[in-house]
Formats: sequence, C-alpha cells, structure tokens
Amino acid sequence: MPALDQKTKKVVTTSKISKSREKLIKLGLSTDMALVLHLPMRYEDETKIVSIRSANLMHGAVVQVEGIIQTCTIQAQQRKQLILTLADESGQLNIRFLHFYANQVKQLAAGTRIRVRGELRHGFFGTEMVHPIYKIILEGAPLPTTLTPVYPAGEGLSQTFLRKEIATAMARIDWQDTLPPTLLNQYGLLDFETAIRLLHNPGPEIDEHTLSNRSHPAWIRMKFDELLAQQCSLKRAQAARRSQNAAALPIVGHLSHAFLKTLPFTLTNAQQRVVDEIRADLCLQFPMQRLLQGDVGSGKTVVAALAAAQAMDSGFQTVLMAPTEILAEQHFRKIAAWMEPLGVTLAWLTGSLKKKEKENAQALIASGAAQLVIGTHALIQETVQFAKLGLVIVDEQHRFGVGQRLALRNKSGGQHMPHQLMMSATPIPRTLAMTYYADLEVSTIDELPPGRSPIVTRTIDQERREEVIQRIRAAAQNGRQIYWVCPLIEESEALQLQTATDTHAMLTAALPELQIGLVHGRLKTTEKQSVMDAFIKGNIQLLVATTVIEVGVDVPNASLMVIEHAERFGLSQLHQLRGRIGRGSAASVCLLLYQSPLGMQSKQRLLTMRASTDGFEIARQDLALRGPGEFLGARQSGVAMLRFADLETDQWLVDQARDLAQKLLRDDPATVEAHLARWMGMREEFLKV
Ligand code: ADP
Ligand code: MG
Repeated sequence: MPALDQKTKKVVTTSKISKSREKLIKLGLSTDMALVLHLPMRYEDETKIVSIRSANLMHGAVVQVEGIIQTCTIQAQQRKQLILTLADESGQLNIRFLHFYANQVKQLAAGTRIRVRGELRHGFFGTEMVHPIYKIILEGAPLPTTLTPVYPAGEGLSQTFLRKEIATAMARIDWQDTLPPTLLNQYGLLDFETAIRLLHNPGPEIDEHTLSNRSHPAWIRMKFDELLAQQCSLKRAQAARRSQNAAALPIVGHLSHAFLKTLPFTLTNAQQRVVDEIRADLCLQFPMQRLLQGDVGSGKTVVAALAAAQAMDSGFQTVLMAPTEILAEQHFRKIAAWMEPLGVTLAWLTGSLKKKEKENAQALIASGAAQLVIGTHALIQETVQFAKLGLVIVDEQHRFGVGQRLALRNKSGGQHMPHQLMMSATPIPRTLAMTYYADLEVSTIDELPPGRSPIVTRTIDQERREEVIQRIRAAAQNGRQIYWVCPLIEESEALQLQTATDTHAMLTAALPELQIGLVHGRLKTTEKQSVMDAFIKGNIQLLVATTVIEVGVDVPNASLMVIEHAERFGLSQLHQLRGRIGRGSAASVCLLLYQSPLGMQSKQRLLTMRASTDGFEIARQDLALRGPGEFLGARQSGVAMLRFADLETDQWLVDQARDLAQKLLRDDPATVEAHLARWMGMREEFLKV
C-alpha cells in the first residue's frame, strides 16, 4: 500500500528497497534465520575466464569471457537486434541481444571492457552468445573466488539484493549449533555454521555436482536438520493427542453383525484389515485420527459404515460429511438402504434443505435420536449440536480445510473428543503421508473388489472427434452408458458453463437418437439430482458433465468416458474422473481427447494415464512431476514443510532422524526446543491439528 504524505497529501512511492523487503516477507524471509536458511538452488561459476579463441570451439558450453567491445551495432531485420563484437588477445566473438534498452546501447559503446557469461551457439556468422549476463569492468578487476549462488526468488527480487540481505543476516545471527558435538560425531554430520557458509559461498575446489544433486555433506546436514525438526514435532503432536480424552467405543455388537450379514458381498482382505485397524483404535480412550486411503472404487464406504455401526453399538452418534451434495446424497441413499432396515435412525442435513426440514434434522441430532447423520458443509455452518457424538467421518478429506474438520469435531456435545476417520480416494504415497501429515495413522485399502474389468485408456487427437461420436453411438446401442467430461477452464466459471452447454447442444445434434443429460455446478441441487437420478435409472444414456462428477458418483453401467481437453487436467483429477467407469463387469474405455501440440508435462501426464490405472503409481508420478509442495498444496495448505529433503532418495535420513527424535524427546528436551525454534518457526502450529 502506498503511504500518504501527511503534509503534501501526495502518494509517497515506497522506495525500491522497501518494496524488495516486502517481497522478501512474502517469500517468508522475514527473519535473519529464515534468510540464512534460504539456500541457493544452483550456482554460477564466475571464478574462471576462458579465452575467446577457445570459447569459439566450445559450442553448447556455458562460459565466461572478457574482452573489449570492438563494434556495437543495431541491426533491423524483422526485429531490432543489438550486435556486439567482443575481442581479447586471442580472437573475436559475436554477442547478440534481442531485447535491449537505449541506454544499454550507450553503455556498450566500442572500447568498453566487459565480462560476459552465457551459452555458446552456432550463429550465422560463426560462434555467438545470445543474451549473456554481462558486467562492465575495469581492466584487472578481480574474479570471485567462490561460486556465485543463485537463489530462489519471486518476481522483482534481484539476486544482488538477495545476496546482500543474506550476507547481512549471516553477519548477525547466532551461529550456535542446535545439536551437541557428540551427536554430530555420532551421525557424521557437518556443524551448522560450516555447512551454511559453504552452501552460500562454495569455494572453487568443491565438486559442483555434489551441490547440484545435494549429496554434499553440507546439504546432508540441512536435510537431516529439517527432517529431525519434522519428526520431533510430529511425535509431540502424537503425544498431545494421546493425552486427550475420547469415549472408548468398544462394542462390536448386534448392529455390526446384522449389517455384515445383510451385505450382498464379503469384504476383501484389504477391507477386513483396515476394518480391524479402525476397530482397535475406536476401543481406545484417546481420539483416533486415521486416514483411510484407497483407490477409487476400492470400497471405502462400507468400511466407514462398519465404523459407524461400532459407534452406534457403543451408544454414540456418528456424523459423515462429504464435500458435495451429490456425494453426500449417494452416501445417504446407500447407507440408508443398508441401515434403515436394521432399525437405525438417520438424519440428513445440507444447505439446500428448507428451513423446516433443517430444524427437524437439528432437533433429531440434538436429542440424540439420530444415530447417524450424513450431510455437507452445512453440518458445520448450521447450528448443529450433537447429543453424544462419538465418531466423525470425513469423505474426500483433502477437499476440506483443516479448520472445517476441527469445527465439526468441536460439536460433539460432551467433554470427550470424537474419534476421526478421514477418507481419501487420491492415495498419497506412504512416505509422504507419514512425513507430511500431522499426527495421522494411515490405513490403506490396496485391493479392488473382485469382478472389476480393467479400464482401457486411449489418447486421441481431438481432430478425430467424429470417430469418438461413432463410438458413443455404438456403446449406447449395446446398452452402455457414457460420460462426456467437459474441459476445465480455470480462468472462468462462466466460460466453463458455456462450453458445457455448447457441448451438450453439439452432441444432441450429432446423436439425435440418444437421451442426453447435462450436469454442472450452477444447477440447483434438485435439478442436479434429477439428472443424476435419470442417469442412474438408465433413462439418460449420455451424460455431459463438468467436473462435478469427479467424486463419488457410482453408476456401474457406465463404461465409456470421454474427457475433452484432457491435457488441461491434473493427474489425480484425471484418475478420479476415470474412476467413475470400470465399476461394473463390462469392459470400460476412457478416451482422453487432447489438443495438439502438447507441452512436455501434459504429454507426460497423458502417457502416465494411458500406462497405469493404479492410483498409487499415478500419485507417485504426480509427485515426481509437480514436487511435494504443489502436490500437497492443492490438498491441505500449510503442511508442506520439507524444502531440502527428498523423501524418495533420502529415506535413510528419515530413518535416522526418526530415531534421534525419539531419543532427544526422551532425554534432551532442551535440544528439541532449540532445534524446533530454529527450523519450524511458525510452522509447528499446523502440526497440532
Ligand atoms: P470408494 O472407495 O471409491 O468410495 P465405494 O465404497 O463407493 O468405493 O465402492 C465402490 C463399489 O464397490 C460400490 O458399489 C460398493 O458397493 C462395491 N463394493 C465395496 N466393497 C465390495 C466388496 N468387498 N465386494 C464387492 N463389491 C464391493
Ligand atoms: Mg467414495
């Protein structure tokens, strides 16, 4: 915000420096220690100068040369270019700038001595450097003796400014190591100060490769420290949870048994295993905090229902919250069909209920008459109070913020914390779940129910849309149902809606013999529901949809899915969408339409989708493509904490850090405090939820 000068009432433009400071703060670099821990992502070697004669023979290499400008000319062919010839005693080199300012032309007049660094290429007139970094210097100016760090920086933050700020911070901080020398010896670790100084200013003798692949002992120390901090805070969060009170729900009684008996199928081994894990947790007197992860279609709902049955058998209420009305409604129908015949009283609460209906639901919940409550966010927003809440189940947990989950937990109506079961259909690789999520136990269903036919996935250029329409016609003639998923348009919901409507019209014209429905986010709940109902009943053969169908929709007869502009979707989203088919016994096909040309990342995503239907494998690829910060960022803000360690390659360090964390928490709490203060800062707050 520009400040107003009190005397002149004119806007004072904040100086460039303080603008840069603001940007630092945005990057989280508001303390000296944070700056010191802001480590280079790579280095530039400006310690050597190559003679121009040899540079002329080094095409493809990045080098630094020094010389005197012989000519400086502006060429105007299709676009203006600035061409320099640079010479030292050994030869001449051409330098080309495609963008330049008038004052640059003045600066770079013939006779000026410059040092330039850039990549050498074949040019029309021999070897040249395009857009090198350059510095005007005096003869004999000394070369740096250490590699030049290049820091991660946001837009508008110059490397020079960052380097200065970091150097200042380094002069001010307390270098006291958080770990005692005996431990450093024992784990073979470099001391903190040596490691940090080396990483900011590595001498020329250091093998650059060990810096870039982060295998240098200085990097190892950083990774170790980071992992140690994380393990310490994780274990403390676990201990804190164990000291809270929850009502034990130990009875697996009449309802649980009756429910299992009425199920039309038997549990898979994987389902049975996770049911046992949850059962054991529910018997304890501190709150369960468990993530149930399983690929789309792996059968999480029945596991959740069994957990609810145990809570009810023990005399407590259960609440199940889902992120969308469609999904909540599906849960409600399915679970009501299972449980109502057994005498269970259910309540249903979403934002779209009429006032009177809401009040009825709230009364049922508050009196304790409703044993099982199912709904959406409305469960948090409305004035809901439970009589005796024992278990909170959150489906698609990553779609809710931490705060929303907490709010639900706090409506329990007693001095007890309810147990929590969170479900996710986007599997998180195990290492990531263990190290990233706050105190959380993980149960995994790693097996699909029997009798599913595998999905075949094909990628098709959207030029071939006509063929796709023929396939839809053929599938419908064979009694199959089809989803057509409209492109994601992130910038504009209105545009997305427009596209969906247009696609619906296009398909209706192309396939007049079919019943074609349309669902999108802007429809009223009842409208949405009636379209879904018609699709479930088979009255609609082709359903045109935006990503509202991404989660939870379960129509086994749908066996063909077309995803338009598949290149715009993320991997996990594609996987979720595709999970809507392959639920019955018919062979299922997913067609990913793309618009060429494809970028590298999009191409990789589509190839991954074609090659695999395994959610865990896809999640791993997703992680590799996007990196953990972004991978988790979409799911749960604030917890992506590892900047330096890589969970795939540094697993051995994770193990060591975990062992040491355990020992320190037991024997040396002061060291734990000091270490967390340095490394976690504000972040530990996130771990408490
Ligand atoms: P998700 O894990 O994606 O939530 P659901 O719970 O919706 O999966 O289950 C997908 C389908 O599989 C449902 O129709 C469900 O009734 C069915 N199902 C679940 N478990 C089994 C099983 N053990 N055997 C056969 N079908 C099952
Ligand atoms: Mg589900």
